[in-house]
Amino acid sequence: AAPEEVDVNEVIERSVRWVTQSASGKFTVDLDLPAKMRCRGSSGQLQQVAMNLVQNACDATAGQPAAHLAISGELADGRLRVRFADNGPGIPEANLAHLFEPFFTTKPVGQGTGLGLSISYGIVERHGGSLAARNRPGGGAEFILTLPVESR
Ligand code: ADP
Ligand code: MG
Repeated sequence: AAPEEVDVNEVIERSVRWVTQSASGKFTVDLDLPAKMRCRGSSGQLQQVAMNLVQNACDATAGQPAAHLAISGELADGRLRVRFADNGPGIPEANLAHLFEPFFTTKPVGQGTGLGLSISYGIVERHGGSLAARNRPGGGAEFILTLPVESR
């Protein structure tokens, strides 16, 4: 598909609506995004990236009290940077190097394909951005998505 102007706020907000509706109130998300984040590319593909990040956070925090994801964004140096920080168990150190490999999953058979992050990584790379994971000092996992901002 030809590149289009992508409304990144809308893409993220839609992902949050979809995932939180199916989690029926047990998973809450805080959104703190600058207005009008735009980039160039495929909104359908970037929707897959955001959906997977929000769904992964929902899965990681499932069953714990106050399951939560904080999504915050900033614009700097011609890039937009969005942080997805959850309060789940975090990622075992040994898994960090494998998260973006195809078929890497810690979910039970039938519940995860292990393709989400590997597909997401490729999509973000083709958009000129980056996707990285780390553990938060206070616990929980954090994914950082960067994309070049639309500048036309
Ligand atoms: P899937 O969701 O099908 O397992 P992904 O590629 O989306 O595949 O994720 C791969 C793995 O990365 C997950 O199975 C999980 O082990 C780990 N992971 C992803 N997001 C998180 C998170 N927010 N907290 C802890 N682990 C995570
Ligand atoms: Mg996933």
